[in-house]
Amino acid sequence: MPLDQSLRDRLADIVGAAACISDPAAMAPYLHEERGLYHGKAALVLRPGSTAEVAAIVTACAAAGIPIVPQGGNTGLCGGAAPHEDASEVILNLGRMNKVRGVDGENFTITVDAGCILADVQRTADDAGCLFPLSLAAEGSCQIGGNLATNAGGINVLRYGNARDLVLGLEVVLPDGRIWNGLRALGKDNTGYALRQLFVGSEGTLGIITAAVLKLFPKPAEQATAMCALDDVDNAGKLLNRARALSGDAVTAFELIPRIGLEMCAKHIAGCSDPFEAPHPWYVLVEFSSSRPDARIRASFDALLETAFEEGIISDAVIAESVERQKALWRLRESLPEAQKHEGGSIKHDVSVPVSRVAEFIKTGTLAVSKAFPGVRPVPFGHVGDGNIHFNISQPLGADKAAYLAQWGEMNRIVHDIVVGMQGSISAEHGIGMLKVEEMEHYKDSVELDLMRRLKTAIDPQNLMNPGKVVTPSRASRK
Ligand SMILES: Cc1cc2nc3c(=O)[nH]c(=O)nc-3n(C[C@H](O)[C@H](O)[C@H](O)COP(=O)(O)OP(=O)(O)OC[C@H]3O[C@@H](n4cnc5c(N)ncnc54)[C@H](O)[C@@H]3O)c2cc1C
Repeated sequence: MPLDQSLRDRLADIVGAAACISDPAAMAPYLHEERGLYHGKAALVLRPGSTAEVAAIVTACAAAGIPIVPQGGNTGLCGGAAPHEDASEVILNLGRMNKVRGVDGENFTITVDAGCILADVQRTADDAGCLFPLSLAAEGSCQIGGNLATNAGGINVLRYGNARDLVLGLEVVLPDGRIWNGLRALGKDNTGYALRQLFVGSEGTLGIITAAVLKLFPKPAEQATAMCALDDVDNAGKLLNRARALSGDAVTAFELIPRIGLEMCAKHIAGCSDPFEAPHPWYVLVEFSSSRPDARIRASFDALLETAFEEGIISDAVIAESVERQKALWRLRESLPEAQKHEGGSIKHDVSVPVSRVAEFIKTGTLAVSKAFPGVRPVPFGHVGDGNIHFNISQPLGADKAAYLAQWGEMNRIVHDIVVGMQGSISAEHGIGMLKVEEMEHYKDSVELDLMRRLKTAIDPQNLMNPGKVVTPSRASRK
């Protein structure tokens, strides 16, 4: 249904003229999508300043049958925050709702508007003497609402869990415009269904998250970081197990980097260089931390490196002796996606397998894609401590980028078949968005898919909340 002038006027009244954007140039940044895979159009971009305004927008749009695309920092990697091409949708961007509603150091909680930037939440927690552990390379621009809507992972999942594990309560505007105030700050609440968990990971398809109560933790008192060099990716799993055992489970990060990825960073990203004198096939960035001042983190770290050397698990290691050195090591890991962009097209797979099968997956996957697409350059990296591999395949040197990317679906199928054969997941942390709707339908158990569709229909019967993302109505009932 087209957005008529009277509804446009009504929506502009709700948010104020400055927050109602229809000028194509001003709208452009909201239509931009991180990977450039989608080029949508919107009827309007609205930037509400309060939950009441969000509710009023949703109520008005629901009455007129206008679909809404919730949008946070627009850093998502599956096209979930991008509108479709028919310009029928309204983008509802949460960026103006960026207030911290309160920090409760005694109960280790923070209550924030959904539009708060992740890095600002981390800083506010830090100022209060606490830690908010969610951390990812997009933290300077992604928002808490987006982090929860995608159930973001990042580098600290091993120790603190995904976004899902960090949320105690939510405030949500439902597809009919009602506000659900579930802003509870309880560690235990067994009064029926855990509704908040329905909205976490729903990618804006069930409602708009407007605020959240998040868990805080004591700040680490001691931390140690090193980059370890490995001759064989098989050794990554052994290193992780030794690290967990020797540290008393104080491993907070365990990130894999292949030689080709390190070379790409050193070549394309300012401030990145190889920390080792000789090249090695694989690297793992390991971090231990503890909030106990007497945890002797550095001593157990040294013990790990000594044991790993003796057992032939690692062939070299560089310990970060200063904060600058620690940042330089992390910069290598965090620059990988950007560095890969300079090498032409990259076909992505954000997948997970049981941790014990990570090396097997990388080897099998590399063989399979290299056989099917000769000359491709696999760059498998990521949060392997969680079994999560970003199995990104750079185009052959000198290949045509568009022609290479046209093989996206074909390559996905080869890789995802291997993943599913290993009881893994075709989306470990980035979600489904528009990118993987059909892929998920292909692999998901029919009972699970049916439950998801029933939930979607029960909560959003008009299919107006981010339609076409995550789960589509069943083919039989689709209009
Ligand atoms: C350099 C880089 C590194 C990244 N690293 C990681 C990583 O390590 N781990 C990881 O998990 N992800 C990572 N991502 C992906 C991305 O940053 C996360 O998915 C992030 O959580 C998205 O937040 P956002 O605010 O940008 O959401 P958006 O991109 O704006 O939206 C993402 C989805 O959430 C929905 N949404 C947004 N806000 C709301 C809301 N308030 N209510 C309801 N629905 C909403 C949107 O409709 C969309 O479906 C990375 C991205 C980049 C660019």
